[in-house]
Amino acid sequence: MLLSKRVQAVKPSPTLAIDSKAKSLKAQGIDIISFGTGEPDFDTPQNIKNFAIDAINKGFTKYCPVAGTVELKEAVINKLKLDNNLNYTKEEIIISCGGKHSLYNLFQTIFDDGDEVIIPAPYWVSYPDMAILAGAKPVFINTSDKNHFKVTASDIQKVITPKTKAFILNSPSNPTGNTYTEQDLKEIANVCLKNKVLIISDEMYEKLVYDNFKFYSIAQISEEVKKNTVVVNGVSKAFAMTGWRIGYTAGPAEIIKAMTKIQSQSTSCPTSISLKAATEALNGPKEALEVMRKEFEKRRNYIVERLNKIKGITCLKPEGAFYVFPNISGLLNKSYNGKMINTDTEFVEYLLDNARIAVVPGSAFGASGYMRLSYATSMENIVEGLNRLEKAIEIL
Ligand code: GLU
Repeated sequence: MLLSKRVQAVKPSPTLAIDSKAKSLKAQGIDIISFGTGEPDFDTPQNIKNFAIDAINKGFTKYCPVAGTVELKEAVINKLKLDNNLNYTKEEIIISCGGKHSLYNLFQTIFDDGDEVIIPAPYWVSYPDMAILAGAKPVFINTSDKNHFKVTASDIQKVITPKTKAFILNSPSNPTGNTYTEQDLKEIANVCLKNKVLIISDEMYEKLVYDNFKFYSIAQISEEVKKNTVVVNGVSKAFAMTGWRIGYTAGPAEIIKAMTKIQSQSTSCPTSISLKAATEALNGPKEALEVMRKEFEKRRNYIVERLNKIKGITCLKPEGAFYVFPNISGLLNKSYNGKMINTDTEFVEYLLDNARIAVVPGSAFGASGYMRLSYATSMENIVEGLNRLEKAIEIL
């Protein structure tokens, strides 16, 4: 067999698969409205682009330090201090090629074959497969819209075994947009500390919060919790910089040093121009962030209200990210043209083929009976996409 067992054990990213399917249909001239990928539709703010162009013109186009430039590390340290009241040193920070790469390197660094990692479901599509690639076994805790897609400390305690190495927290969450309060986090942190389970806190959607929700990092709870936590964040979502691929990790120096070793043997360093752009994103003016955040909030309000008016759909109003995760179980087991639609995957295929809208099935995130809509697309697209959704449901 040509392919390794490792690669055969994982599947391609479903979010990226839907994105490329929608893009290829569009390229064929088919009028698709995509609620697929979680990618801001806004352009990267001009000051960031100018900074990067300037860096190119000045010849900043060579290899950089493996773990990222000192100036970007300092910008990250400053950000963590100002926004989260967290103190880190440069030895506790590594910059990688996107949050996904940060997580990938982290998983390769901490997991041995057979280690268990606790992942609340619905989860972001890449956690389980990245864990499997690192030899670890994902252990899921299922949640539903009834409990606002949240796990409790006692849910976590129940699945902990001597093999449990880490717990993944993602608040605000992709795909549900749900958030954990400070009190929820304290309880979760305690159970992890008590059982020596490392906390991986994916804070990628920190800046996208609504209704005056105040983001709180689990690492802020105490020095002891901070030492037991690895924080992953990046510039992709907050600054509309998905293509620049810059993520960062803050955590114990021992872990960061080991991640740096892995990075030195794979990508050498993140892209020089992107390091410059991310430095400007973190150090420069932040007005553009608030403009985008407000627009996302407006879209969220609209999309949630309209979805809840559709018979068969119920949708929570999430406090963060740019996703909604409606329950569509009331729309399943119906037929179209004599063909049954029994699962969320079949429903999503029906929407793509007949309504020309792209969404991601809940099962891709480990939660069947739901679908994820990203509202990181224009209001015009959202209105038209929901009109199409309504019509497609009426004829079932
Ligand atoms: N994180 C985004 C999403 O969930 C981008 C695609 C990906 O990396 O999964 O749609």
